[in-house]
Amino acid sequence: MPGRTAFVIDKHGPMSYSEPVAAIGFNSKVQYLKGVGPRRAEVLEKIGITTIYDLLHYLPRRYLDRSMIVPIGSLQANMNVTVIGRVVGKGILRGRRSRLEVVIADDSGYIALIWFSGYGYFEKIFNKGDLFSVTGQVTYYQQRQIVHPEIEKIEDEAAGLIHTGRIVPVYPLTAEIRKAGITGRVLRGMINRSLEQISETIPDTLPSVHRLRYGLLTLDRALRSIHYPEQMPDAESARKRLAFDELLELQYLILSSRKESGRISKGHHYRKPGEIVAAFIKSLPYRLTTDQEKVVGRILGDMRKEQPMHRLLHGDVGCGKTVVAVFACVYAAENKLQAAFMAPTELLAEQHHKSWAEPLEKAGLESALVTASRTKAERAGIEKGVAEGRIDIVFGTHAVISESLDFSRLGLVIIDEQHRFGVMQRGRLLAKGQKPDMLVMSATPIPRTLALTLYGDLDISSIKSMPPGRQTTKTVWRQASARPEIYEYLKKKVAAGDQVFFVYPLIEKSEKLDLQAAEDAYRQLKSGAFAEFRLGLVHGRMKRDKREHIVTAFRRREIDILVATTVIEVGLDIPSANIMVIEHAERFGLSQLHQLRGRVGRGRRKGMAVAIATPPIGDHARKRLDLFCASNDGFKIAEADLSLRGPGEFFGTRQHGLPELNVADLSRDTDLLAPAREIITGLLAGDNSLDKDDRHLLTYLAEKARNRKSLADIG
Ligand code: ADP
Ligand code: MG
Repeated sequence: MPGRTAFVIDKHGPMSYSEPVAAIGFNSKVQYLKGVGPRRAEVLEKIGITTIYDLLHYLPRRYLDRSMIVPIGSLQANMNVTVIGRVVGKGILRGRRSRLEVVIADDSGYIALIWFSGYGYFEKIFNKGDLFSVTGQVTYYQQRQIVHPEIEKIEDEAAGLIHTGRIVPVYPLTAEIRKAGITGRVLRGMINRSLEQISETIPDTLPSVHRLRYGLLTLDRALRSIHYPEQMPDAESARKRLAFDELLELQYLILSSRKESGRISKGHHYRKPGEIVAAFIKSLPYRLTTDQEKVVGRILGDMRKEQPMHRLLHGDVGCGKTVVAVFACVYAAENKLQAAFMAPTELLAEQHHKSWAEPLEKAGLESALVTASRTKAERAGIEKGVAEGRIDIVFGTHAVISESLDFSRLGLVIIDEQHRFGVMQRGRLLAKGQKPDMLVMSATPIPRTLALTLYGDLDISSIKSMPPGRQTTKTVWRQASARPEIYEYLKKKVAAGDQVFFVYPLIEKSEKLDLQAAEDAYRQLKSGAFAEFRLGLVHGRMKRDKREHIVTAFRRREIDILVATTVIEVGLDIPSANIMVIEHAERFGLSQLHQLRGRVGRGRRKGMAVAIATPPIGDHARKRLDLFCASNDGFKIAEADLSLRGPGEFFGTRQHGLPELNVADLSRDTDLLAPAREIITGLLAGDNSLDKDDRHLLTYLAEKARNRKSLADIG
């Protein structure tokens, strides 16, 4: 491309350097931008900025809206304003309430800024002649003043960026780039210059049909307005467009993996449910609820289809998802296919195996348990049985996906408590079967739009009602100082036949200490307050035999109080246990508290949860505990948790193996989710019928996906 040639002297660089540069294009290296030079380019590269295109994607954290600046002379009490003024004087006034007073002025008048606290710090910031942007509420006390305003020093007056009628971007700065002399002013200058000098329209990978249909800006427009919006709503339209690009990528990642497996036919046919299924239904001690029946119908329908099932089943903790999944396993077995039932903890896998081995046997089916703590000999026997196809259903932890387990004809994969597994593990398990059906289960109810995004590769079913006879669990939280009273109360309850869980937090970071704390507490409870009762201790680090022994004893009511770490959080089902004490409840997340509580109140005795919080208890923790006590409804809890923590942390996107979203916000941009999904679905279904623009977008997304190393293993 023939370009303009310019000579640039970089006066900010370590050496005086001059080099001919072609006109700036979006692919040009930032190094050739005036004011950058090799040293700064190196620092920028560290934060992922190599080209002009990258630089333009470095987005403002916020804006200074100078278009709304009010002349100081016109200020009146109670106005909420932003003004710009120069420091004309300052002083600390000692007295009953000592304070710092700084006076700023513009052409129209002056106003005092007041600090009652932190004035030592603020005093240093203001120097006579400096220009500041000041935001706050005007009050009148002997004079017009603003108390504790938000302030920002304006340094780039010389750069010509300051004038009324313009919105100025404020960029986030890391210590690293600051150290390299890249201040907000420098960065603003660089980005501003790129926008001015760029000799071409930034090419847009999003075809205009889609863009127009969903009312989105061109990439060129969006990148310009996000840095220099004419009005604030323009910045939001620009953000939307950039968010849309991120969501497109996300949807591509999710849906393309589905396409891979969805196109292939399973290669086997299911017959109608027959005798084995009937025998299984007969062996159940209860009738399925209407919701359960409906979901079973759906799942069996999926399994009969040519293409593999990819279904998510969600429902509040305790609603009875397990039986639905086992039902599917039985149906697979009846059709001479094996099933793998994966749980996130050994304890849960053991429980599933224990509770289902017998009913399955009655239906003529053989099951086995595979966890890391099985002996070599046990393991070898199971491996043989699985490989020969003698074993129909394997319950297990992620050990099920270990290399040594070879199924002869894996037809169904169940993933229980799916939020505990990563996408990677899901992928590896799928690779084991021909093209097995897959059912993933989660006790975290998900708002539908979000489910579409994060589980876009899955069809979704939910169980909304609880099995008959369930009562709500009474929940309270108390400070640690109330422990003696709580213990007295519990003693009476246990004497009357109640069974209690005592739960202690176990967090990976501090695992050793936490484990120690749980063990100490166990000894103390056993020899102290609860000496007259039978106590047991379980945690994840125990030998399997011992752990199973204790859980069984608790189940048989030979133990009154089970002290446990959070290993019991997921899935454990001991209907006779009805009271749960949660120690250090201030350390738990809201959903986690709810999961824990789900362990009690499953039987005839009234469920009760007592959360004990140890000071210091922060505001957030207090809020979580209040919400926890206020609601028993998993859906409400999940929504509250989602809004408290934000989607990223709530879903642990890293755990999902999904990319972090920088611009898009899953709770704010819900309106973009369906369009993004629609476009990607169209692209993936289109094959040869796609036009040039769509093909181009598809290639671009595929390329980006390939570059995403974190997902490389999924295959
Ligand atoms: P979750 O959905 O949390 O995995 P579970 O599958 O562990 O719940 O079921 C919770 C309890 O409800 C278990 O004790 C189970 O036996 C019982 N249960 C499940 N379905 C029914 C039903 N239809 N009628 C009565 N009890 C049921
Ligand atoms: Mg469960």
